[in-house]
Amino acid sequence: MALLELRRVSKDWEVGSESKTTILKDISLKVEEGDFLAVLGPSGSGKSTLLRIIAGLIPPTEGEVLYHGRPVEGVAPGVAMIFQNFALFPWLTVLENVELGLDREELTAAEKRERALQVIDMVGLDGFETAFPKELSGGMRQRVGFGRALVAEPDVLLMDEPFSALDVLTAENLRRDLLELWLEKKIRTKAIILVTHSIEEAVYLANRVVVLSRDPAQVVTDVRLTLPYWREKQSPAFLAVVDQLYATITRRTPAEAAPAAAGRPLSRVPEVRSGALTGLLELLDDLETRIDLYKLADNLMLDVEDFLPIVEGAELLGLVKVEHGDIELTDVGRRFAEASVLERKEIFRELVLKKVPTMEKMLWVLQSKRNKQIPREFFLQIFERRFGPDEAAKQLDILIDWGRYAELFGYDEQGGRLYLEGDEHPRA
Ligand code: ADP
Ligand code: MG
Repeated sequence: MALLELRRVSKDWEVGSESKTTILKDISLKVEEGDFLAVLGPSGSGKSTLLRIIAGLIPPTEGEVLYHGRPVEGVAPGVAMIFQNFALFPWLTVLENVELGLDREELTAAEKRERALQVIDMVGLDGFETAFPKELSGGMRQRVGFGRALVAEPDVLLMDEPFSALDVLTAENLRRDLLELWLEKKIRTKAIILVTHSIEEAVYLANRVVVLSRDPAQVVTDVRLTLPYWREKQSPAFLAVVDQLYATITRRTPAEAAPAAAGRPLSRVPEVRSGALTGLLELLDDLETRIDLYKLADNLMLDVEDFLPIVEGAELLGLVKVEHGDIELTDVGRRFAEASVLERKEIFRELVLKKVPTMEKMLWVLQSKRNKQIPREFFLQIFERRFGPDEAAKQLDILIDWGRYAELFGYDEQGGRLYLEGDEHPRA
C-alpha cells in the first residue's frame, strides 16, 4: 500500500465573485516508502497549493488524499512541512520554536524538551537553544524550520522551496546535511516531497521527479532517478539527467502546442520583459550555434524559474526554436538580433501582433476610443476575471512593456493610461 496517495485531486480558486480558475486538475500520484520526490513546475503552477493539500492545510475541490490507504480530513497526522520563509515565531527561542513541532503529540514537558534538544543537535543548532530567530543567519533559521518539522518524526516530510531564500553556499550546505540525514537514516521519515524550481537541486537530491504543467497543473512526467548517491554535479551522467529534464519541461504539451489554445485571446504570456528577450537573442547570436538550455541557464547564473519565461517568451514569438532541451535562433530571431534598433521594433511589432491575440485586441480597443486613450484599470479588470488579481497585474505589465517596445501604443505611468499617438503605427 502506498504511504500516501492522491486520487484525482483538483483544486479551483475563486476569482472575483462569480468565476473560478482550475489550478490543479486530476492529479493522481502514489508516494511510496523510500521516495525522495522532487516536484518541478513553473512559478504559479500550483506547487504550493498541491503541497498544502497533501498536508491537509486546505481541502481539494475534488478527489482525495489517502494516507496509509485511508482518506485524511484536516491536518494529516505524520506529515510535517518546511516553508521557504522559515515561518518562525520571533518571540520564541530556538528551543521553543522547535518544541512547537510537538504540539500535537501527547508528551510531558520534559519529554518534549528532550526530543527537541536531540533534534537541535541533529540539525546543527547545538549551542543556539536559547537564541532568538533574529540573532540567526538565514541558514540557521532554516535549520530551526527543519528541526521543528523533524522533531515529531514525521513519516512524510513536505518541503516548499526550502533552500530558495538562502545564499548559494548556505543552501548547498543545508542540502548536504539533509541528504545525509536521509541517506544514513538518521531520521525516521519514510518519504520526502520537495517542491523546487531548480532542476539541478532536484537531480542532486531526489530519487524521483514529477514535472507539473500549468493552467491547470497536471503531471506531465514522473521519472525515477537511478544515479547513485552522492552525486557529482559536474559529472556527465548528472548533466545528462539535467539536460533531459530541461527537454521535458520545455516540451509543449499537445494542448499547449495546439494553435487554438496558443492563439486564444487572454491566453497567458510568459513573464518576460522585452529587454530580457533582446538580451537572450543577442547572446544566442554571439554563440552562433545551438546550445543546451541548462548550459545557457548556468552561464547566465539563472535558475529555471527565472530562465524559462525568457525562453518561452522568445519561443512564443517565434524568435527561437527549442527542441530536445537545446535552443537556437530561428531565421527571424537571427534577423532580429542583427537588426538596428528601429528594425528590431518593426520585427517585434509584427511578431507580437501575429502571435499574441490579446495585444491585437488591446490595440483594437484603443483605436476604437475617440480620444485614443484608455485607463490601465480597464484592462486590469478584464484580466482579473481571467487570471486573478496578482497574476492579472503581472500579465498586463508584460503586455504594456511589449506594446511600448513595439511602439504599438504609449503608456503614461503616472496617469496609468495607455494611449495612441498621432503617428502610432496602424494595425498590421
Ligand atoms: P506555485 O507554488 O507553483 O508558484 P501556487 O500554488 O502558490 O503556485 O499558486 C498557484 C496559483 O493559485 C497562482 O495563480 C496563485 O495566484 C493562485 N492562488 C494561490 N493561493 C490562492 C488563494 N488562496 N486564493 C486564490 N488563488 C490562489
Ligand atoms: Mg510556491
